[in-house]
Amino acid sequence: MIAERSSILQHPDVSIANVYEWLTRHSAWSLPGGIHEGGRALFTWVRCPSASHPDAHPSAYLNHKKNWVECRACGFEGGIFAMVVGAGEAENYAAAAKWVESQLGIKPAERPALDEQPDMRHFGGIGLPNERKTATYTYTDLHGKRLYWIHRYDGDPGADGRSKRFTVHHQTSGGRYKKGYGPDGKVPYRLTSFARAHAERRVLIMPEGEKCADAIEDLDLLATTIPFGTNSKMIESWKVYFRLVPAVLQLTDSDEEGRAAAAHRAAWLKRNGVFVRTVDLAPERNDGFDIWDWKRERRHISSVTLRTELTEMLLRPALR
Ligand SMILES: [Zn+2]
Repeated sequence: MIAERSSILQHPDVSIANVYEWLTRHSAWSLPGGIHEGGRALFTWVRCPSASHPDAHPSAYLNHKKNWVECRACGFEGGIFAMVVGAGEAENYAAAAKWVESQLGIKPAERPALDEQPDMRHFGGIGLPNERKTATYTYTDLHGKRLYWIHRYDGDPGADGRSKRFTVHHQTSGGRYKKGYGPDGKVPYRLTSFARAHAERRVLIMPEGEKCADAIEDLDLLATTIPFGTNSKMIESWKVYFRLVPAVLQLTDSDEEGRAAAAHRAAWLKRNGVFVRTVDLAPERNDGFDIWDWKRERRHISSVTLRTELTEMLLRPALR
């Protein structure tokens, strides 16, 4: 039995991709999600083949190197025979081997056409290959009450070529965790720093991204940022927060996209009566250099010195 099973698995046409297509009539290759080797993806995202999971999204991935399937939504996973059993075509591995053998006798021309591709629109909601959570940013109201969290995941490049993704969660009054911003909606990062800038008559520094805002706050300065920075528009209701602060000192990412986004935000702030200055840390660069990179280059310098250096650098152009 074991010998019969392994001999079928060694057939050149028996792969997780082919068996997936025989089982589901969906393409196994339409949504590459992983590293490419010899022109082919090592992973592809597919609708889950499990009979107990009606999957409208591409929630599962096929690992073509290991001939393995794994569903991120329902947890279904296994090799070729496990997939045949899970799809409801066979009761056990021996029957699955027989089913695979029967499929080998069908000529490609005699097979029904494959269905359309997995829906790309859902790709942002599912995981990247080999991803891990690398950061969680807590958003609060002016008084420090938690409103929502943004989680960052890094992994191998997905179908759209990006190697990071973000999710947003909030906690309901009943204590449950749900997707999305929650009843108070999207707010700028570190609203408590707006309150402090107001009370202490201090400048609020606004770089691109939470990582940079945190790096500035680590130096005992006040910072904020806009969730999903470059791609995000200023929201009308944010006027009330920005009008609290005496001045906003904006730090642009040193590339075209960053400078354009900063110019947009500066125009919005001015239109709403907020004093704003924009500083480009490296006007000669175009590689996305930011305050976090600046700080990393100076990691052997004490934070007191760094704070002085940064304050001088930021205030100098403002005093011109
Ligand atoms: Zn599933």
